[in-house]
Amino acid sequence: MDWQALKADVIAYAKSIGIDKIGFATADPFVELKARLVEHRRKGYESGFEEPDLDKRTDPSRSLPGARSLIAVAMAYPSRMENPPKSAPGAYRGILCRAAWGEDYHVVLRERLDRLAGYIRARVPDAQCVAMVDTGPLVDRAVAERAGLGWVGKNTALITPEFGSWVYLGELVTNLPFPPDTPVTEQCGDCTACLDACPTGALVGPGQLNSQACLAYLTQVKTPISEAFRDKLGNRLYGCDTCQVVCPHNRKKHADHHPEFRPDPEVAKPLLKPLLSMGKKAFQQRFGRSSAAWRGKKPIQRNAILALAHFRDASAIPELLALAERDERPVIRGAAAWALGKIGVSAGGATRDRLKEALAALATRERDEEVRLELRRALERLGGVDSGRGRGATRDAAEDGEPGGTAR
Ligand code: SF4
Ligand code: SF4
Repeated sequence: MDWQALKADVIAYAKSIGIDKIGFATADPFVELKARLVEHRRKGYESGFEEPDLDKRTDPSRSLPGARSLIAVAMAYPSRMENPPKSAPGAYRGILCRAAWGEDYHVVLRERLDRLAGYIRARVPDAQCVAMVDTGPLVDRAVAERAGLGWVGKNTALITPEFGSWVYLGELVTNLPFPPDTPVTEQCGDCTACLDACPTGALVGPGQLNSQACLAYLTQVKTPISEAFRDKLGNRLYGCDTCQVVCPHNRKKHADHHPEFRPDPEVAKPLLKPLLSMGKKAFQQRFGRSSAAWRGKKPIQRNAILALAHFRDASAIPELLALAERDERPVIRGAAAWALGKIGVSAGGATRDRLKEALAALATRERDEEVRLELRRALERLGGVDSGRGRGATRDAAEDGEPGGTAR
């Protein structure tokens, strides 16, 4: 078999089905990566969403015995929204990260990879291919880097010369010995823009991410977000794009040639208040096509509550009080109590007094220890002064790429 010729045909086929970038690499174990992952775990930087078996994460032959090569693919997605709806007082909006704007990339890339595997099997009947997109054991960025699609920047994103880091990644593990491509040289140089811009200091060093402090991860947890991070959340409902927005290699990079990845503004930048009372069915109808839906509606509703606090939106007080009083989920009651404390301090006067009374009454009835604590803290805050940031905010910074408010 002329593997070079087959490789050229596979590349041509991949382009014909809308894959923007394709590269080939050996299936050797990722030895250096494993050492870094061991260290990462030791320091407690993992998110918990990763494959726990580090051998599986770094040795392709654990996914496909006899693996000989890896085929990395990338599809580019938009970095801008045309005519984004704007927040206004009483009608504030949240934002999903760009990777969640369009149709769920897991579905789209998986379908492309299945077609690519089908093409390869038609050419080589005993070919074996295992497809992965994000949730597979291998580290997509490491595979893409080895296959020459781009380099992993200090922000831990895979940066391609053509599309910046606005790309979805996936790969095939195969038993075929395709000739490998050459990795791209790292081009961060002296730049530290991403490390400087990260609102939480989650980028603890070049290419080192403490997931436990990363807003992209925190927006997805189902438990309460620790208080230290709540004020950093801005209007992010799912993910965080800040360390990508500031990257000079993303400047003017905007690919909107895949219709399935174009954002519906009411999904990508939804009004916050209607989210609070959204039922399961309505949530699925609105967000079901986006990858943001994978954790269900609770984290997004919790984040919407925190975003309303960020905007100090006093018009949301009735809905927030109803949640703090009646929602059956302690995470939601606790978030609502926190938000009411923030908003009440900002509003001052009679509103503040009314909230103090209402929250004090709730504190006597609340049975959940964590929520009682939130109520007590909110009451303390209502007896103090507003710490300031976000007060009277009418702008959601995702519109202008400001580091403090973009979302991924
Ligand atoms: S995604 Fe956001 S919080 Fe996470 S490292 Fe990047 S800028 Fe920091
Ligand atoms: S912002 Fe600068 S340091 Fe960070 S990934 Fe981009 S080029 Fe590299």
